[in-house]
Amino acid sequence: MLLAVSCTACGHVARFMASDVAQFVNPTREIELLPFRCGECGGKECKVMASEYDRDRRPDIIVWRPMRLR
Ligand SMILES: [Zn+2]
Repeated sequence: MLLAVSCTACGHVARFMASDVAQFVNPTREIELLPFRCGECGGKECKVMASEYDRDRRPDIIVWRPMRLR
């Protein structure tokens, strides 16, 4: 499953693999409450949309991976 996080302030969209995100957050937590932060404007007002990962889609989709927590 793919998570598309769009910034409501500037429209920047980042995509994550849901399986990657689940490694860093409590999977029982509401997905809309995840502490995403816009990499463009730093805004925290984000809209999260979950969608099926479509391998046939045009390859212009960049899938971001959360930074490793050390
Ligand atoms: Zn933004």
